[in-house]
Amino acid sequence: MQPDNQRRTFLKGLTFTIGSTVFGVPLLSFCSSETEGNTTQESQTGAANNQNRKLGIALVGLGGYSTHQLAPALQETKNCYLAGIVTGTPSKAETWKAKYNIPDKNIYNYQNFDQIADNKDIDIIYVVLPNAMHAEYTIRAAKAKKHVICEKPMATSVEDAQRMLEACRQNNVQLAIGYRLHFDPFHQRVMELGQKQLFGKVQSIRAHNSFVMGGPGSWRVDRERSGGGPLMDMGIYCVQAACYTLGKTPVAVTAKFGEVTKPDIFKEVEQSISWRMEFENGVVAECNSSYADQEDFLEGKADKGWWRLGPSFGYEGKEGETSQGKMNYPNIFEQARQMDGQAASFRNNTPSIVPGEMGLRDVKILMAIYDSARSGGKRISIS
Ligand code: NDP
Repeated sequence: MQPDNQRRTFLKGLTFTIGSTVFGVPLLSFCSSETEGNTTQESQTGAANNQNRKLGIALVGLGGYSTHQLAPALQETKNCYLAGIVTGTPSKAETWKAKYNIPDKNIYNYQNFDQIADNKDIDIIYVVLPNAMHAEYTIRAAKAKKHVICEKPMATSVEDAQRMLEACRQNNVQLAIGYRLHFDPFHQRVMELGQKQLFGKVQSIRAHNSFVMGGPGSWRVDRERSGGGPLMDMGIYCVQAACYTLGKTPVAVTAKFGEVTKPDIFKEVEQSISWRMEFENGVVAECNSSYADQEDFLEGKADKGWWRLGPSFGYEGKEGETSQGKMNYPNIFEQARQMDGQAASFRNNTPSIVPGEMGLRDVKILMAIYDSARSGGKRISIS
């Protein structure tokens, strides 16, 4: 994945207004504006409160996502900046220190991580580790009295997700999930089309998100570290998309695992999985995710129209169309927009649009999908 900030176009001249609220998530609607600049609902709130201090973020785990997306994004953010790093690889610490001018006192490893509690430069800890490590580092971050952004999926079990929320509550810090698509204009338009029923009642949704896994060796195919295969990694975007298209949580799921054609790689996790999410009033989302395919789209059909995003879930190059024509939104630097929004909500103590509770909801859905697939396709209710 290439860091290529030059190709990104920042969203300008758009303002967001808060509409209805579903699952604590404000439905953002767009209106064109003469105003130049990268304003968001949350940064506007910040200005109103006159709290313009940039918050310091420490990235935990300097792998692909931190290196190629989050650190470059933090060079563009207005409400937060890259203040520190936590890494188990000393050579990365040296490289990042030089590249991003990070002082020695803001560099930690996994052993001395808890000392970050004493570091006033760090306001937010962003956990970008393999999935099964999210719980431990989120809880340690909360105990250090820092706000937390935790990457998706929030956890590899419902119990872990609940412990993470509890730790954040007890320590009076906020927890947000690294869901970037809530900040993306194409996906915000889908939320608006679906939740406001602009084309009438939604009838059905389809979402596929897959990529071809190169070979064995990645933590993504090691169950202990990943918690599962493509469903946990890519399929979660389809789960999210179905929920935010409707502004609802499914009532039940059914699922089945796909064929394993690469048994050397997929010894511990599924190679592919397809599932159906049933929502109230008979609306159904058909979804698929695989590590042996290349697919990336989100579709919705409503009584009086349809929409399609494709590419839909990747970082760049999104395109969209509706029954009324091409969707005309710029591709933005999603991670910059996401972290700016999250930093503003931490700073202003306003609810995140992607809170830990949403992460827990999604882990419950993921676990129900696995339960169904393991049982050979039994219908599992979501409680
Ligand atoms: P990588 O494998 O590229 O990086 C993970 C990093 O975690 C490693 O480089 C290492 O950093 C650290 N680490 C610590 N312990 C271990 C361990 N036991 N095994 C492997 N790595 C370890 O993963 P990604 O950056 O792609 O993914 C990290 C998280 O981010 C995942 O939860 C993933 O789902 C999420 N993600 C989210 C995306 C999004 O669009 N929101 C996109 C991509 C990933 P160090 O050497 O510094 O210790």
